[in-house]
Amino acid sequence: MKKPEFRPESLMMSYGYRPELSEGAIKCPIFQTSTFVFRTAEEGKAYFELAYGLREPEQGEGPGLIYSRLNNPDLEILENRLCLWDEAEDCAVFESGMSAISTAMLAFLKPGDVLLYSSPLYGGSSHFITEVLTKFGIEIQAFTPQESEATLLQRAQEEGWGERLAMIHIETPANPTNKQIDIAALRRLGDQLGQPEQRVVLAVDNTYMGPLWQHPLKHGADLVLYSATKYIAGHSDVIAGACLGNKALLAEIKSLRTFLGNMAGPWTGWLLMRSLETLKVRMEQQCRNAQEVARYLDQHPAVERVYYLGLLTEEDGEQYRIYKAQCEAPGAMVSFDIRGGEAEAFAFLNQLKLAKLAVSLGSTESLAQHPASMTHAGIEPHKREAMGITNSLVRLSVGVEYAGDLIRDLEQALNRVMEMNGAVAE
Ligand SMILES: *Cc1c(COP(=O)(O)O)cnc(C)c1O
Repeated sequence: MKKPEFRPESLMMSYGYRPELSEGAIKCPIFQTSTFVFRTAEEGKAYFELAYGLREPEQGEGPGLIYSRLNNPDLEILENRLCLWDEAEDCAVFESGMSAISTAMLAFLKPGDVLLYSSPLYGGSSHFITEVLTKFGIEIQAFTPQESEATLLQRAQEEGWGERLAMIHIETPANPTNKQIDIAALRRLGDQLGQPEQRVVLAVDNTYMGPLWQHPLKHGADLVLYSATKYIAGHSDVIAGACLGNKALLAEIKSLRTFLGNMAGPWTGWLLMRSLETLKVRMEQQCRNAQEVARYLDQHPAVERVYYLGLLTEEDGEQYRIYKAQCEAPGAMVSFDIRGGEAEAFAFLNQLKLAKLAVSLGSTESLAQHPASMTHAGIEPHKREAMGITNSLVRLSVGVEYAGDLIRDLEQALNRVMEMNGAVAE
């Protein structure tokens, strides 16, 4: 992609939209329409020739508007804007993060292929992989952030699946433990395994870092996936997804999207464009707040341990090295072990006043939840413990509130836990 002259945050209000095509409206209207009128039959024919790939486009000729399952101005402009953050060639938006993820997997996997994926994964992705993909004869192999590149290479060779490896899907940092995976190392692994004539597709679910704090394409990923429900939409009021990468891979994904019919609708597209105008200010405020919250929790006597990228130091070795190489900021997701177990974690959550007790993340309001009994309840207890998802673990998604108020809220809820701990000691 040609590098634009201005930064993404400067372009989110206008990029890709031409007011003269919409009565001069400064904002892109909601193109709430199923189909588009062709000026002439010849024009309709030309649009279909390109849509079906019957010929190459002529100089300056782009895809014409045909039907809203194929394209719609609210989706196309949104996709062009999303490309700017990740410096991607192309983007496809979907009606949910799950539809972006499942469509990408279905586009690049066929029976007999192997999918390698990091564990823990978002519950929905994990379910789709273990319960749906396996029904279609796709072999699945999980790995943990503790397994090194060398271990994985050895495993692939010993277990005999290396040559059939077609796709790698990872989440980094892992939810909710913030354990990181080295994207560049998986690129090397993919290049060593698989078939020489077919590149192993490396997909990174970048939802946890949003489009601001980590850019997986720069580290060798082929696809970046988002639940746009999270930071991109950012207001806990819409479900959406996105997939970004080069033109060739996105052409395959968009083609499958056309036939699955899981593209986002114009209203979703419009809402996301509105959200993108404030993406950077929201995320930066969230990150500043998270750093203060993490520092506060780290010194609190009712808190056993805080898991936050911003608290990593050189003593954390490989994790610190990956963080420095791969992340541009520590993000706004903070997890911590409270002193005690489920009872103390629940008492804390029930006591919060400003932060809301809800799953999801990346929104303007702060959210708190208990992974072991909520988002990660589907994982067998011994596996969950091994992943570090204990009964005392609480996950916070830090919002845009005044940091001092957030800390005051945490303090009064932690006081409740201190009282409980005191009561136990008596
Ligand atoms: C929320 C989430 C998803 C699923 O996205 P939806 O928009 O809810 O379909 C996928 N991956 C991660 C990491 C998520 O947090």
